[in-house]
Amino acid sequence: MPETGRPQPATGALDRVELGVDTHAVHAGREDLTNAHVPPIDLSTTYPVGDLEEGGLSYENLASGGRPRPGDSLVYQRLWNPGVARVEDALARLEGCQEAVAFASGMAALSAALLATVTQGRPHIVAVRPLYGGTDHILANGLLGTRVTWAEATGVAEAITPETGLVIVETPANPTLALIDLNRIVAAAGSVPVLVDNTFATPILQTPTAHGVQLVLHSATKYLGGHGDVIGGVIATTPQWAARLRHIRALTGALLHPVAAYQLHRGLQTLPIRVRAQQSGAAVVAAALADHPQIAYVHYPGLPGQDPLGLIGNQMAGPGAMLALDVIGGYNGAARVVQGCRLLTHAVSLGGVDSLIQHPASLTHRPVSDDAKPDRGLLRVSIGLEDPADLIADLDQALRTKS
Ligand SMILES: *Cc1c(COP(=O)(O)O)cnc(C)c1O
Repeated sequence: MPETGRPQPATGALDRVELGVDTHAVHAGREDLTNAHVPPIDLSTTYPVGDLEEGGLSYENLASGGRPRPGDSLVYQRLWNPGVARVEDALARLEGCQEAVAFASGMAALSAALLATVTQGRPHIVAVRPLYGGTDHILANGLLGTRVTWAEATGVAEAITPETGLVIVETPANPTLALIDLNRIVAAAGSVPVLVDNTFATPILQTPTAHGVQLVLHSATKYLGGHGDVIGGVIATTPQWAARLRHIRALTGALLHPVAAYQLHRGLQTLPIRVRAQQSGAAVVAAALADHPQIAYVHYPGLPGQDPLGLIGNQMAGPGAMLALDVIGGYNGAARVVQGCRLLTHAVSLGGVDSLIQHPASLTHRPVSDDAKPDRGLLRVSIGLEDPADLIADLDQALRTKS
């Protein structure tokens, strides 16, 4: 009998729900392993079909978003991969959802959610800025047939129309680290599903479904993978949405690669300790830079006055490990800093074990329209696992660099 692709993944899970998040991070998605200690990587592109009638039914089930039933052929890798299903189970558990669907990238995951709303005849999206630059770009240009209304966090209810299929928010926001109250957004959205980009917070610091959010998106490329060597995306959600998203994934070919799934699953095991350690480092760096003569403002939700709604300790377990710096001297000042860093790498992306610094207005948020583009003196910093004193010293010497 061919590998069944873990047809009943959530069942063993349910009686383990009371376990702590650190335990889930290490064990989730691995419960069925009997003869192996780490998950096998299954690279098969195709699977023996066996009985033709049965095989045809398996194909139809998987291609329309179903999960394989016991004994089913998996038919073809674009439809299902056992290692991808394992990491999906793990992420669903960490986010407190019933299912998760993994994609080739965060943008592939977002695209599937947008296509799902369009194909349900609700192409209107209400989105709260700021968002990741790629998200802003694909909403602004309507590539997938969506129409966007940009709203303030307090203006979501007014922006909704009968055609609204999704409300999209990001908290902490990229790149300003502004926090949004998810209870209020969900209340304002009413019957319209809310999608939260949880990339910056990770499920260690925030689980949006606890606030009534239906779709939790991650660029798994960032903290979940955590080592800068795997690109992927995931949406944790309800079984009904998961089936819709798998249907779109099967048709558009946006499956996560099995090797990437393995790396992601390995990364999840250290996610809680990485996030907490990176967060501790970020708090030290943020506090040290807050009084720096070359910095006008440090954006970090853990600094005094930067959590006006009291979300930390409530919606969020902590302020995270991302900072943004308003550098004195605008664009030129910011350019000198990124070029002067020796320990921090001047590069886009975030959430890995090493610290990165980048200029959002030129890079990650370049496509954003001028009225919503990040300030030209703003730098975004992803704090890694280095000694915070070394990061502070490097940023300090870069900030003091003369033109
Ligand atoms: C990187 C990122 C994305 C896009 O994810 P990819 O994996 O690069 O496609 C989406 N949202 C946020 C917040 C990101 O940082």
